[in-house]
Amino acid sequence: MTTNKIHGAQCMCGDITMEATGPANYVEYCHCKWCQQSAGSSYILWVVFNKENVKVTSGELSYYQSSPDLKRGFCANCGSTMAVRTNKCFDIALGVMDHPDDFEITQHIWTKRALKHMNLDDDLPKYDESGPG
Ligand SMILES: [Zn+2]
Ligand SMILES: [Zn+2]
Repeated sequence: MTTNKIHGAQCMCGDITMEATGPANYVEYCHCKWCQQSAGSSYILWVVFNKENVKVTSGELSYYQSSPDLKRGFCANCGSTMAVRTNKCFDIALGVMDHPDDFEITQHIWTKRALKHMNLDDDLPKYDESGPG
């Protein structure tokens, strides 16, 4: 699904850079309400890595704990939505990756919250709530 190389990411202002060592476990559209609010849009695309495969290489993520087991990382300077962390995963937002086209999308999650305008008739696996990622 992705190559086994180092994937760079950075926020809009460049204060925060990250590196992930591939391959990604999943690349997913998340249609949940929290991602909609976080992005100010219909969904966020997350590139899901094991937490030990991601490191912040400059700057420091700020976090908002949006549920007991999940915190959302962003740049306090420019506001870029950058990451979601759980005790096993470190997801990076596809939009902050240096080379987003390196990733093939693998699934949709939280489709029960998908907005009406979303076109979900692709062949990707779909999960009502959180998926295997
Ligand atoms: Zn920034
Ligand atoms: Zn979400």
